[in-house]
Amino acid sequence: MSAEIVKAKPLRVNVRTPEVMERVHAEVEVHYRSVLVENLRKAGGFMAVGNTTIRLAKDFGFCYGVERAIDLAYAARRVFADRRVFLLGEIIHNPEVNRQLTEMGIISIPIHQHEEAAAKLEAADVVIVPAFGAETRLMEIISQRGCLVVDTTCGDVMSVWKRVRGYAKQGFTSIIHGKATHEETRATSSRALGDKGDGHFLVLLTLGDVDYVCDYIRHGGNREEFLQRFGKDASLGFDPDLHLKRVGVANQTTMLKSETEELQRRVLRAIRDRDGENAIADNFQVFDTICGATQERQDSLFEMLRKPLDVLLVVGGYNSSNTTHLVEIGEKQLPTFFIRTAECLKSFSEIVHFDLHQRAEKTSYSHKLASSDPVTVGVTAGASCPNNLIEDTILRVFQLRGISFELVMEEAAKACKSE
Ligand code: SF4
Repeated sequence: MSAEIVKAKPLRVNVRTPEVMERVHAEVEVHYRSVLVENLRKAGGFMAVGNTTIRLAKDFGFCYGVERAIDLAYAARRVFADRRVFLLGEIIHNPEVNRQLTEMGIISIPIHQHEEAAAKLEAADVVIVPAFGAETRLMEIISQRGCLVVDTTCGDVMSVWKRVRGYAKQGFTSIIHGKATHEETRATSSRALGDKGDGHFLVLLTLGDVDYVCDYIRHGGNREEFLQRFGKDASLGFDPDLHLKRVGVANQTTMLKSETEELQRRVLRAIRDRDGENAIADNFQVFDTICGATQERQDSLFEMLRKPLDVLLVVGGYNSSNTTHLVEIGEKQLPTFFIRTAECLKSFSEIVHFDLHQRAEKTSYSHKLASSDPVTVGVTAGASCPNNLIEDTILRVFQLRGISFELVMEEAAKACKSE
C-alpha cells in the first residue's frame, strides 16, 4: 500500500487514508473501549450497587491528542507492514498502550539512546514521533537518514513551540514551567533556541525554584551558585546576569494550572520590582499554554470533589505528568491512591500505589474500603489512560466489595437508560 508524501524534509507521510483508518478504528476499539465506562458516563458518572457507590469525573481518560497519536501509530503499522517501524520513546505515558504497540512490532527507541540509535536508522525505516514531539536536533538526524516520519505531535504542543520560537526571535529568554527531563519540555526547550539557535531558556519546576530566580531578577546574586542549581535545566551558555533581562513565560501543556499561574504572577512581580511598571511590556511576556484537555480533567476533578467521597482512585502511568497533577489535587482533600491498573488493587489491605513524595510504589491499607460500611469511591484518569483500564478498576472495586460482574453490568445498563 502506498502513502501520500506531504513534505520533503523531514519526510512526513500521511497515513490517514479512509481505508486504513476504518481498520485502525476497529482495532483501537477492541483494545481500549469499555461499555461499562460509556454507560456510566451516560448515567452522569454515578452508579450505586449495594453499599458501594462509584463516581466518575465528567472528563477523564484519553484526550484528543492521545487518540490521534494512537490512531496514527496503528495506521503506520498497517501502511508500512513490510518495513521496520520505530517509535521515539513512548507514544504516550501509559505502559499498557506502549505494550500493545510493542506487540504490534513497533520498536521503541529509549529516550537516552535517541540520537545514537537515530544515527543508525536506514532510509527505508519509518519513525513515529510521539504526541510530546521530539527535539530539533533529533529530527535533523532522522531527516538526514532519509527516514519516513509519522508525526503524531499534538497541536497543543506545537502551539507552545510557536510561542517560544517567537520569544527567541524577539530576544526574550523562555522561562518554561515544566520538568526538564520530560519529552515534551525537552522538545519545547530545543525550539526556544529559535530558528538561528541563539535563543535561551530556563526550565523551572517548583515554586521554590521560581522564588530563587525571582530573587536573582530583583537583586542579582551568586552567578556560580545559580548555574550549579539550574545549569543543566538551562540553555548552553545561559548567563543569569544577561539572560533574565527580558523573559517570556510558557509551560509544559500538562502542568497544574494553579501552579503555572502562580509562577507567572511571581515572575511578573519580580520584573516589575526591578524595572518599574512602565518597562513591563518591554521585558515580560506570558502565554498560558496549559492544554484544554489537561484543564478539563483538573476542573472535572475539582467539581467531583465538591460531592462527598470517601476514597479517590486515579488511574494512569506513573510517569504521566497530567495524571500526577490529578493525584496532587485529590490528596489535598481525601485518601487518594495513584494506581497503574486494576491489578494494583490486590485487596483492600494491599493496595499497590505510587507515592508522589517518595517517588516510589508502596503498599497501603484502606480501612474505609475494607469495611462493610457504605462507601463512595471517586474515579478519574489522566489523558493517557484508556477506558478499558478504568473499567477494570471499577469492576475490581465492586468485586472486592463482594458484588458480581453481572450485577454491575446490569445496573450500569439500567442507570444509563434511566438518564
Ligand atoms: S494532554 Fe494536551 S497536549 Fe498532551 S496530547 Fe493531550 S491534548 Fe495534547
